Amino acid sequence: MSQKKINKDTLKNRDGVSNEEITNKAAIAKLKAKRKESTSAESLAKAIIQGDTIALSQAITLIESTNISHTEKANEILALCLPHANNSIRIGITGVPGVGKSTFIETLGSHIATKQNRLAVLAVDPSSSVTKGSILGDKTRMENLVNNQNVYIRPSAAGTSLGGVARKTRESIILCEACGFKTIFIETVGVGQSETAVHSMVDFFLLLKLAGAGDELQGIKRGIIELADAIVINKADGETIKTAEKAKVEFNRALHLYPPKQNGWIPKVMLASALENRGISNTWELIENYISEAKKSNYFIAKRTEQNKFWLHQTIEDQLKSNFYQNDTIKKELQQQLRLIEQNKTTPFAAAQHLLSLASTLL
Ligand code: GDP
Repeated sequence: MSQKKINKDTLKNRDGVSNEEITNKAAIAKLKAKRKESTSAESLAKAIIQGDTIALSQAITLIESTNISHTEKANEILALCLPHANNSIRIGITGVPGVGKSTFIETLGSHIATKQNRLAVLAVDPSSSVTKGSILGDKTRMENLVNNQNVYIRPSAAGTSLGGVARKTRESIILCEACGFKTIFIETVGVGQSETAVHSMVDFFLLLKLAGAGDELQGIKRGIIELADAIVINKADGETIKTAEKAKVEFNRALHLYPPKQNGWIPKVMLASALENRGISNTWELIENYISEAKKSNYFIAKRTEQNKFWLHQTIEDQLKSNFYQNDTIKKELQQQLRLIEQNKTTPFAAAQHLLSLASTLL
């Protein structure tokens, strides 16, 4: 049997068109239309809302695509899913490579994921195209979760621009929520600005730290501590327990130096061993208490509204920038202005003014 024939037969089997029909051009057109319909924005959105994770993955792939027709389709799906989103809690988890993020997510995830509380794990890792996905790339590190029917794991979107990766993750969150996931973990690795981006898309931000290695407070970027709603000192097991307890006292002292959060919350420090499943249920209890307090005081909603406003500005900025730098005329003129700067024939301000007024006629 020829390859062509096999393919036709496969089509027939999948779509229930008879053998005679398959030889007919009209039938093939009918098949194509059927296929298109089954992956149309409407049908994908419908499947997502019914909890279909294959449709969810297909839609996230569209979100991640740079193809314009894919983006348009993704936008249609998002619009259809949006009314079904929002009903979840979003938790950001960050920490340097090796701190135990995957192990922690695996242990905590196994502890909380149930049929009623389905868990989605996403990642923001703008460096992933370089490091080939340093986080979530290796799913074998989360073996139990991968095999858990109530868990959906999506490795990081590829891309080097944080703005792009962050947008894709935010949109993926909406689809996961529409698909019925009640808890969303967003993992990010402690590099660059990714924590700030993740912080602005989650309800609770968790920083994983290691005890020991001498001066704990030296090694922390002040900015990240400021973002944390809780610090979990991981690997508090074996011989590390004592140093971990000491670190807890130091972190607590340090946290009091920061102004309290908008809702009056003072970040908590916890000890845990992701490997030995200790301190994990306490951490989850803390998160649940925080969320229920935040909901009672309406801070939960207010924060999400603020985040949406932030993302509106962010999207405009990203879009304007990308339109500007991708315009061919501007690209050429920019090179010319850079040369003039090298020759000391213009100033950065004058060059920028020139380019921006050119942009206003083009964009
Ligand atoms: P990630 O890079 O932050 O995702 O870290 P991993 O979860 O891959 O963990 C890095 C290493 O630390 C692995 O060898 C883990 O087995 C180990 N590890 C993770 N959590 C713990 C823990 O609680 N205690 C101990 N002793 N080792 C841990």
